[in-house]
Amino acid sequence: DDQPDLSPWEIEAANDQLIAEVVFNRPLDTVYRYIVPDEFRELIQPGQRVRVPFGRGNSSTLGFCVRTHVGGTPGKRLKSLAEICDREPLLSQSMLDLTEWIAGRYLSGWGQVLESVIPAGVKRQAGTREIVFYRAADSLPDIDTLKLPSKQHAVLNLLLQSDDPMRVDELTAAAGCGVSPIDSLKKKNFIIPERRRVSTHSIGGEIATRQEDLKLNSEQSAALQEILKVLRESRHETLLLHGVTGSGKTEVYIQAIREVISYGRQAIVLVPEISLTPQTIRRFRARFDSVAVLHSHLSDSDRHWHWQQIASGDVQVVVGARSAVFAPVPHLGLIVIDEEHETTFKQQSVPRYHAREVARERARRDNIPLILGTATPTLETLKRTMDGEDRRIVLKERVEQRPLPPVSIVDIRNDPFIQRRHSLGRAMTNAIQVALKAGGQGILFLNLRGYSPVLWCGKCKGVTCPDCDVSLTWHKDRSRLVCHSCDFEMESPERCPTCHQPGLRLIGTGTQRLEAEVINKFPAARIARMDSDSMRKPGSHDEVLERFREHEIDLLLGTQMIAKGLDFPNVTLVGVIDADTLLYQPDLRAGERTFHLISQVAGRTGRGDKQGRVLVQTLNPDEPIIQFAAHHDFDGFAKYELKQRKVMQAPPFQSMARVILRALDERIVQAESQRICQLLRERIQAGNRPIRVLGPAPAPILRLRKYFRYHFQLTSPEQQQIEEVWREFVPTMKLAAEVDMVIDMDPVDL
Ligand code: ADP
Ligand code: ZN
Repeated sequence: DDQPDLSPWEIEAANDQLIAEVVFNRPLDTVYRYIVPDEFRELIQPGQRVRVPFGRGNSSTLGFCVRTHVGGTPGKRLKSLAEICDREPLLSQSMLDLTEWIAGRYLSGWGQVLESVIPAGVKRQAGTREIVFYRAADSLPDIDTLKLPSKQHAVLNLLLQSDDPMRVDELTAAAGCGVSPIDSLKKKNFIIPERRRVSTHSIGGEIATRQEDLKLNSEQSAALQEILKVLRESRHETLLLHGVTGSGKTEVYIQAIREVISYGRQAIVLVPEISLTPQTIRRFRARFDSVAVLHSHLSDSDRHWHWQQIASGDVQVVVGARSAVFAPVPHLGLIVIDEEHETTFKQQSVPRYHAREVARERARRDNIPLILGTATPTLETLKRTMDGEDRRIVLKERVEQRPLPPVSIVDIRNDPFIQRRHSLGRAMTNAIQVALKAGGQGILFLNLRGYSPVLWCGKCKGVTCPDCDVSLTWHKDRSRLVCHSCDFEMESPERCPTCHQPGLRLIGTGTQRLEAEVINKFPAARIARMDSDSMRKPGSHDEVLERFREHEIDLLLGTQMIAKGLDFPNVTLVGVIDADTLLYQPDLRAGERTFHLISQVAGRTGRGDKQGRVLVQTLNPDEPIIQFAAHHDFDGFAKYELKQRKVMQAPPFQSMARVILRALDERIVQAESQRICQLLRERIQAGNRPIRVLGPAPAPILRLRKYFRYHFQLTSPEQQQIEEVWREFVPTMKLAAEVDMVIDMDPVDL
């Protein structure tokens, strides 16, 4: 029985009764049915929120109406819906269908997906106000026969002359009167009030200087022609635009979008949040009349305003981070995902969708192309092109034949500076000196913020977070120890908090320590640090990049914030301070990510007329991944890594889901994980399904925010199999109340 508890006011619906199907913001939930009372019959539409009675007693809850149909089921008693909460549907039928697909694909509740996909600002109509407008009543006798006092006559006359209803303040101003004549007319039913929602919003978008499209080189033209062919044939295909950094991919997207706009359609361009720099935005604004930019720090009312503009068809191009894949454009013609390999396209909270897969599905339903652009495709995408499902288009050359920079692997195992606990080895130090002397700029990359990641006690090891199994990082600028996994902070202790010995030592280097060393070694250089600590103020990110562009900064150092998408012609040196930390993480994609990162960072140089170079410091100079990256050898890397993944029966050869259980008590979560895995294995065996269950095991960080965590993985050659077994299994497993469980389909962080 899929109905809420029976209550006395349930009735059996007649066979001409309109029924609303409603979903709630809950995991793996079913669709519930409610009678639509006659007064709502003309008003209800799928995509509206409704208030419905739920459970025993008088309690009610908010849900989404997802469908309506006519006719009850004989013998089945239903409750009636109590209220329709939105005047208009919050999303179109095709977007509603897409959210249903997401719920299935990512094993979440349909209502959860809707809750997450529709911005809060849209739900509460942020930035709008209800205002009363008046219009003249229909079929009034001639105004002069009414014998009205002069002010009332004036007001009514205005409304009879006006094509549009008018607000009270407009009427009083135009008729030179107060509000009482309006009230009197209303009482006599000569004028009729109407409530309308109006925007109180105004957005002053920056007007960019207009730029003409560039003349494409032959590789770019060939790529564009391929895309245009798919567009003109109105069919879906995913095209991987695989081009080294600076090969002119963005220019190709722009000209493909130009064609889409000429059909009266719109385009969505997804970019990683950190690439939403003024530079990127300006580039699109300079080419198109109407560009909406959706980033994560829009206010609710800005978001609502954009949503409406987009839905009305007034926006040609939507540029935005992950969630812009849900932009309600009415006639979508093309989706582009730039930097396809970025893990931020995967949402890390329910419904845990991957924007690339949602985009693929949306494009498939709309019969339009999806373009994935990157210098370093994910192995998932690469494999699809190898299997002939997607098509790969390669841009081999950088624009204007600028060479890719030479990358030197610097073996720091015996470096005298490193042995003295510096972060910059001898070669790196020299290279910085040379670059600065020649008037060039440098970027130094270190993927760890703070001053030092470990406060070491000789007796009992590091000082860890009381809530997580994570060593606390010393932040010198704030004089505090900080946990990078939760919000915990504390004063730095004089003595070890565990054994009370003095003599704690700082081990390892974060960006703050690197900054101190760089200032010390290059006192004349102008230095800026960019990481999430130094970039807390909104706008500070853009400001530093602007100063770097103007060459008011010589050396920019920071975390991956500086690795992505920056395009500065005067950068002649890029230094990767530590290639090893990322490589040796307990993560399936550690190698892939290291390759991506070195390639991306290397792409930051040699973009102007000056030749650039890249230095990569490592303790593992023979590591194949680092070698491939140094030789700009994507194909070599892919072949090597695919071979390993095949042996491991891992993605992209198999689909994977990760299940994480957590509880405050370690014994309970351990026992539950074992019990669940056992039951699941039995069910898989009984159903004869090709699914492997790996685990359970403690998560790599066992304790996080006070919770102990265990996890296990499901892998299968067919994603559908995992989906099916999980839907069957969950309602039967009876999870202990103390335990939380989540499933992450296609996880990117393991
Ligand atoms: P990618 O997106 O592949 O990194 P971009 O499209 O950003 O490459 O191009 C890199 C640089 O080359 C940009 O400054 C861009 O303006 C310039 N560019 C791109 N295409 C051309 C072209 N056909 N002719 C001249 N310059 C170009
Ligand atoms: Zn913590």
